Amino acid sequence: MPKHLKKLINDHIDFPIKGIVFKDILPLLQHPEIFTKVIEEMSVSPIFKNADAILAIDARGFIFGTAISLFLSKPMVVARKPGKLPGDLIEKSYDLEYGKNSLAIQKDSIKKYKSFAIVDDLLATGGTVKCVSEMLKEFKKEVSGLSVVIELKELQGRDKFNFPVESQLLI
Ligand code: AMP
Repeated sequence: MPKHLKKLINDHIDFPIKGIVFKDILPLLQHPEIFTKVIEEMSVSPIFKNADAILAIDARGFIFGTAISLFLSKPMVVARKPGKLPGDLIEKSYDLEYGKNSLAIQKDSIKKYKSFAIVDDLLATGGTVKCVSEMLKEFKKEVSGLSVVIELKELQGRDKFNFPVESQLLI
């Protein structure tokens, strides 16, 4: 784990609803040298080597996915929240640690790739990533793995997946 990463994650108790401890990762972006180290550590994983493209999840997944994409010169596609993407879409709903959500992927964006490395800021219950991986599988695509910055180990999100999961910080 890059040194000092833990100190740059702020806990917000009862956000966005009571009972949730929200892990705010945005302070990390004010420390480019540590942010760079996090991206380097994430990028060395075989998860990316074994993927044709990165699939980044709305919205904080875009921050890390984009940086890894530039670092590795790997193409990136996105899964976005409803109402944001034009064109022909794959859409799916799922349960979140707090509430419900749905995500969409542009069909054209994934056409030419076979395998995807999924990137997000945080793994909680795993519902979000499961939704994305199921959308990819419905289109006969493969998932090489999941790379996140923070993993909330108590929620055992990784048990939902049959692909490798890597996190920089297990909390
Ligand atoms: P889950 O689907 O339960 O694994 O939730 C993961 C998604 O929800 C990620 O995109 C996170 O950004 C967000 N998320 C869920 N729980 C938290 C939390 N405690 N702190 C910050 N973000 C969270």
